[in-house]
Amino acid sequence: MQYKTINAPETKSISLVAHDNMKAELIQWCKEYQTTLQAHTLYATGTTGLHIEKHTELTINKLISGPLGGDQQIGALITEQKIDVMIFFWDPLEAQPHDPDVKALLRLAAVWNIPVACNRATADLLVTSPLFSSSYAKSIPDYQQYIQSRS
Ligand code: PGA
Repeated sequence: MQYKTINAPETKSISLVAHDNMKAELIQWCKEYQTTLQAHTLYATGTTGLHIEKHTELTINKLISGPLGGDQQIGALITEQKIDVMIFFWDPLEAQPHDPDVKALLRLAAVWNIPVACNRATADLLVTSPLFSSSYAKSIPDYQQYIQSRS
């Protein structure tokens, strides 16, 4: 795979997802970093988004609920370079009906070099990084090269 360098924007599009047992932890995290998060564009799967809006002042672009396709919607946004950071508190102790979608989403995030936090400690490090609210150079797959090499 060939890669190219792009500038991740200062104002980021951030996807927020938490499985049911992890929602309280994500809401707590959103409350703690509300001031920072307010400066960015926020997306969430349906139920996660509802809970965050109910318990914080944040405005969320709500997608479909995860088990009904919300994870796949986020994956599609990643391929369109419309997501810059993903906070995804998936439940390590309980199988989900949409486990294949969870795996697919984590795979696409790896393909597209998206910073991903799957737990509170990593989310804390990400949100307090100087790069979180500034532009920085990052590499992503060079799709034009990729498709040309296959023609
Ligand atoms: P939910 O989906 O926010 O609609 O609960 C989260 C998920 O399970 O991916």
